Amino acid sequence: MRRLEELTRENIWRLEPYSSARNEYSGHQATVFLDANENPYNDPYNRYPDPLQVELKKRISVVKGVRAENIFLGNGSDEAIDLVYRCFTCPGKDNVVAMEPTYGMYKVCADINDVEYRPVLLDEKFQITAEKLLGACDDNTKVVWICSPNNPTGNSIDREEVINTIKGFEGLVVVDEAYIDFSRLSSLRFELDKHPNLIVLNTFSKAWGCAAIRLGMAFAQKDIIDIFNKVKYPYNINLLTQEQAMKALKDPFEVDKWVRLLLQERGNMMEAFRMLPFCERVYPSDANFFLVKVSDAQTIYDYLVSKGIIVRNRTKIRLCGNCLRITVGRKSENTEVLAALRRLGAELRVKG
Ligand SMILES: *Cc1c(COP(=O)(O)O)cnc(C)c1O
Repeated sequence: MRRLEELTRENIWRLEPYSSARNEYSGHQATVFLDANENPYNDPYNRYPDPLQVELKKRISVVKGVRAENIFLGNGSDEAIDLVYRCFTCPGKDNVVAMEPTYGMYKVCADINDVEYRPVLLDEKFQITAEKLLGACDDNTKVVWICSPNNPTGNSIDREEVINTIKGFEGLVVVDEAYIDFSRLSSLRFELDKHPNLIVLNTFSKAWGCAAIRLGMAFAQKDIIDIFNKVKYPYNINLLTQEQAMKALKDPFEVDKWVRLLLQERGNMMEAFRMLPFCERVYPSDANFFLVKVSDAQTIYDYLVSKGIIVRNRTKIRLCGNCLRITVGRKSENTEVLAALRRLGAELRVKG
């Protein structure tokens, strides 16, 4: 790996971060806070929240098995994705490499930051090799993006290829594991110590059932986390979110229950989709959604919309022609979508 100083945007490496009122005293017991121009009334919402979310990270550290100093918390994973660009790429000069198709935010953030985005097409099994990813890199490539399990394809990327990419690349490799809780593979966050150039993303938005509170996690070596912390908005995680996350983390077994239920439902749904007359292929999934190839995605999408059921039409995405992405819902919702599709199947058959 190149030295972190070489990988970091020059002005960011030199940046003196904003020093908030609460940063400047530390280690003392205090009871009177007249330092941040807050209103003394309306407790507890009158006070600025902890900029480094110390208590929350302690708890996440226990649940996720990662040291607190290796955790960054963002306003969704999307904040961490944007920070990767703002910290480690130079607009108009550097580039990033990513697999295609994948999550759209990597490209949107590249475009916003005026950084060249180099997509490398997956094969017909939605896999990619380290050789192909590394082959797309040059001296100005700062970041390689890997999403596993991948959105929208649903499969995990071969672990050996991911590791070879991390080991073979001189810059940073971000592995987005938003769906890892639904996968049979273990998280790469447990291998941080082996890979100084690895950043792993997790989120509270999927298995944890907390998309509304906007809380994403990045796990990496401390020197990388320190750079994120320097660049982020001082109070990026609001108090309501920190409190709600603490509540969710009190009962991680609830999440395990949801995951087991969703995996069972996923199996049932995939099986039922295979039986539909217009279904051509159900792709394997390690996530809480699955991709299906149908005879005519637009017709089926429009039909479902007319019944008040919304799935994701991915037909315009490369390698996903005539594909719909189906999120696994509650049992009642899954039953409803299947009933509607069976009726459509019967109608189409009558029409011939
Ligand atoms: C849903 C999703 C996320 C989550 O983003 P948040 O900003 O944390 O809600 C991240 N990455 C991928 C690939 C996703 O599909």
